[in-house]
Amino acid sequence: MSEKIKKIKVISFDLDGTLVDIVYTMWVWERGLPELYAKKNSVSISEAIASVTGEYARVSDASLKWYDIAYWFNFFDLSGDWKDLMEKHREKICLFPEVKEIIEELTEDYELVITSNAAREFVEIELQVTGIEDYFSRIFSATSDFRQVKKTSQFYKKLCKTIGISPSQMIHIGDHYEFDYLAPQQAGIETYYLDRDGKTPKNSHTVKNLKEFVRILRYSQTKR
Ligand SMILES: [Mg+2]
Repeated sequence: MSEKIKKIKVISFDLDGTLVDIVYTMWVWERGLPELYAKKNSVSISEAIASVTGEYARVSDASLKWYDIAYWFNFFDLSGDWKDLMEKHREKICLFPEVKEIIEELTEDYELVITSNAAREFVEIELQVTGIEDYFSRIFSATSDFRQVKKTSQFYKKLCKTIGISPSQMIHIGDHYEFDYLAPQQAGIETYYLDRDGKTPKNSHTVKNLKEFVRILRYSQTKR
């Protein structure tokens, strides 16, 4: 048997849209923050949403600022603490239905990590509310820990180095085609694309939920 046979040690998950429903982050940015803006500037909520999202678009998601809620509080000169805004909407944080079961299962055989490009503040509150933190040995925020706005292939290489494994010992899964599927693949990591809405043509590495991912993983690992 070849010594080069892969032995997967670590499974890396994206967070928003993969483990946790994006409804919370969307709400904080697109509703919660505009509500504060409306109050401060005495404008309607729809005017506030238009102004705030217009400013987000001007900065673009290629900038670190775009992910930084403290920056936006300061930019719009909002009173109060951004932490209170995040806390206020915490009941919107929820896991996708199959998550608990699959992480409980996978944690028996693999080291699990989270690889997110959300800022650490968001990652922390989401893990705290959902109670899944203990299943993961490491939690990475591309923006907060690596000062990178995107999960590039370089980022994934650094990540493997930090964990102390080769890319061939990791599998990554997430819901962003470029940053969760192509970029880690370029780094030499086996990847799966989570397409919950079934928008892309199916292939052997596209799954519609995490249960399907585990099924394929189990099958491919027994064949190796
Ligand atoms: Mg995602």
